[in-house]
Amino acid sequence: MDKKKVLSGTRPTGPLHLGHLEGILRNWVNLQEDYDCSYFIADLHYFTDRSEAKHLQEFVYDVAIDLISSGIDPKRATLFVQSHIPQHYQLHLLLSMITPVGWLERCPTYKEQVSEMGLGDSVGYGMLGYPVLMATDIVIHDADFVPIGEDQLPHMEVTREIVRRFNGIFGDVLKEPQALLTPVRRLLGVDRRKMSKSYGNAIYLKDSPEQIRSLVANMITDPKRPRKEDVGHPDECNVYTYQEIYNSGRLEEIAEDCRKAKLGCKECKGELAEAVIKKLEPIKERRSQLEAKPDFITDVLVAGDKKAKESASITLKRVMEAMKLT
Ligand code: ATP
Ligand code: MG
Repeated sequence: MDKKKVLSGTRPTGPLHLGHLEGILRNWVNLQEDYDCSYFIADLHYFTDRSEAKHLQEFVYDVAIDLISSGIDPKRATLFVQSHIPQHYQLHLLLSMITPVGWLERCPTYKEQVSEMGLGDSVGYGMLGYPVLMATDIVIHDADFVPIGEDQLPHMEVTREIVRRFNGIFGDVLKEPQALLTPVRRLLGVDRRKMSKSYGNAIYLKDSPEQIRSLVANMITDPKRPRKEDVGHPDECNVYTYQEIYNSGRLEEIAEDCRKAKLGCKECKGELAEAVIKKLEPIKERRSQLEAKPDFITDVLVAGDKKAKESASITLKRVMEAMKLT
């Protein structure tokens, strides 16, 4: 029997961070064992909230290195660049024809972005249509499963609605995918907002030990513990969430010492920083090897693009036939 298909992507808006490592890459790497996996660099999505491309190519390259250094194996998974697959543009247009604008306007991520960025009337058509492009990326490769972070769940719901609507009109043409989450659905950044490349609150996989120590030292901790002598509340502390991931072996002791005010936030953060540095060491080691082989990265992406084009053209043909566009 054919393996089930997995597909997901990440925007080349900067290098990858701990939110990616825990929120998606854990799944991306593990799923390679048993599924037919495709992962892509979403450079078209880059333009949904940006209008310059100064560092785009550098970031595409950086993300590819981060993915391979974190355990994505180009021999097992297909790694491609979204904009290199013309079928994505084509299907996007066709799906946009059957997508009600109300679905997109009601999307919480869209409303949040518009209000946070204060865009009002100047909001771009591409930002509104983000979920349509995401739906395209997924259904064009017949994905069964889509490993994402929690913030993408509303977009997945739109994807599923688009599939149902399309199939309702044109017959059983598109596959309805399911989202997959890791236990760390949304890692918070050093400022307690979602860790994000756009918020300047991220610990990047390629950060140096000095950068990591300084970022962790500045993390916001338990808001109810202003002084070291006060007792702490691990369940309300972002640093403790990180300890759950990176110091799981010493978790009970950390929690108890925090609650009794025996462990200060500064020492707690010091211990966390060292654990994060240790976790990232092998990833950084692989990164430095890959940085010395730029042709290898190019070859991986060219091979991935070729496979992705083949898979996308099969679905596009099916869609065009169903829509009597042949
Ligand atoms: P940007 O700020 O440019 O949107 P980002 O940091 O949000 O960048 P994306 O490329 O948008 O990263 O997201 C790629 C994938 O990683 C998505 O599935 C997203 O849900 C997931 N992800 C991103 N940040 C986190 C996080 N902090 N915790 C869990 N998952 C995350
Ligand atoms: Mg994002």
